[in-house]
Amino acid sequence: MRKQLRLGIMGGTFDPIHYGHLVAAEEALVQFNLDRVVFMPTGEPVRKTHRLVTPAEHRYLMTVIATASNPDFEVSRLEIDRPGVTYTVDTMLELRTIHGSETELFFITGADAILDILTWKDSQRLADTCTLIAATRPGYDLSRLSQRPESAEFKIELMEVPALAISSTDIRTRIVAKRPVRYLLPEAVATYIRKNRLYEGAA
Ligand code: NAP
Repeated sequence: MRKQLRLGIMGGTFDPIHYGHLVAAEEALVQFNLDRVVFMPTGEPVRKTHRLVTPAEHRYLMTVIATASNPDFEVSRLEIDRPGVTYTVDTMLELRTIHGSETELFFITGADAILDILTWKDSQRLADTCTLIAATRPGYDLSRLSQRPESAEFKIELMEVPALAISSTDIRTRIVAKRPVRYLLPEAVATYIRKNRLYEGAA
């Protein structure tokens, strides 16, 4: 009998990707016995009106560079190639069609994003397609997650990741302030950022 595939989908804006994301993906791979983790940079993220998001192609390439040395990691263009605003439910339904109903899907993302899940498009349908893995930073108030979605039957697993003390917002702020980002993200990603002069204007 063919083994059931367990696929992790690491959803995020990755603006930029950093070691917190990479450690979270590796942790999910092992903790949830996944076969591989597919990084899924968002195309046009929902509700990012407070700041300009870096063009998708840059975020995609930084994600490819950061994950290239890990044979268990892949990067998908599914969301960045889909026109319009990115909705996770569309992605999971597409993956279901590609991989078939026997594949188990795990959507991994930040706990704060998951807190809002009831407001996401077709959240009930999303709940039917996958298990959610909420990655938290150390000291995260877990009671916030216990007040979450009741109307939909969400399967939510929590995963504390110490390295998530690193954040994309902090990295962008540091670059504007010309403070060091070494050891917060892979050196090759830092080089890509410098070469393309990303984040120099505004965090
Ligand atoms: P966000 O609001 O920018 O991030 C919320 C928090 O989660 C931040 O602290 C962020 O830290 C962290 N985070 C984001 N992605 C993470 C990951 N993969 N692993 C660990 N921590 C992560 O979140 P976002 O990037 O816009 O959205 C996250 C995912 O949810 C995306 O795949 C997005 O498409 C999906 N989403 C879907 C809908 C919808 O379908 N309606 C709505 C909202 C979000 P960093 O800034 O350091 O990453």
